[in-house]
Amino acid sequence: MCQAECSICIEAFVADQVARRLECGHTFHKECVDTWLLERSRLCPFCKAVVGDEEGPNKKDGKTDPAKEKTDLTVAKAVPPAA
Ligand SMILES: [Zn+2]
Ligand SMILES: [Zn+2]
Repeated sequence: MCQAECSICIEAFVADQVARRLECGHTFHKECVDTWLLERSRLCPFCKAVVGDEEGPNKKDGKTDPAKEKTDLTVAKAVPPAA
């Protein structure tokens, strides 16, 4: 799938503009999509797929990772207080 224009600003991609491709495969201007994701929502403006789940702590998709939490706790406890 090849998009000719950015769905956010509805302007065509120009050769020297920085474009950014989301995990869902849709492409937008980097500036446009960065602003969109930061200020509006973490969904692809085009297909509403969730993007960038690595940033942001609120993963509430039932995909919590208790093992990792445990590890983090253990690590935190294992660190001796500064003496
Ligand atoms: Zn754009
Ligand atoms: Zn998309």
